[in-house]
Amino acid sequence: MAKTSDMAITDGKIVTFHYTLTNDAGEVIDSSSDGDPMEYLHGADNIVPGLERQLTGRGVGDRFTADVPPEEGYGVRDGGGPQAVPRSAFPPNAELIAGMQFAAQGPDGSIVPIWVTRVDDDTVFIDRNHPLAGETLHFQVDIVAIRDATSEEMTHGHPHGPAGC
Ligand code: ZN
Repeated sequence: MAKTSDMAITDGKIVTFHYTLTNDAGEVIDSSSDGDPMEYLHGADNIVPGLERQLTGRGVGDRFTADVPPEEGYGVRDGGGPQAVPRSAFPPNAELIAGMQFAAQGPDGSIVPIWVTRVDDDTVFIDRNHPLAGETLHFQVDIVAIRDATSEEMTHGHPHGPAGC
């Protein structure tokens, strides 16, 4: 096995990195700097394609900025924005909070993700666009560690932490 310090990021590696995500306006949308770094399995669609592509071939200690257009990020925005749905269309005990995501059945029977954008007394606003759809993403990346995935991680398609799956 290659020494961790010599490893480059290729498919089948578990990569650990810190990141700060900002939008075009320079606002910080998300950051790992106050907590644990992000860990993912390279080549398994664990992270947005544009970021994964720009991590390919990098090594431990690399710091760089990855600019990711919507097409390689959370997609371009489509449709006419959020739709209003009566609160009564949801189970009475369902806890509905802006920002939450759930799975719905699309017209062709496939499962599509839906996001809740706003919740009023009688109305829930839902959007099939990811909240970051249409945004160009700017990731400040700091690669912390790279290791080979275990065969179990490869089978599952994601990293396992100390607690397992
Ligand atoms: Zn697993």
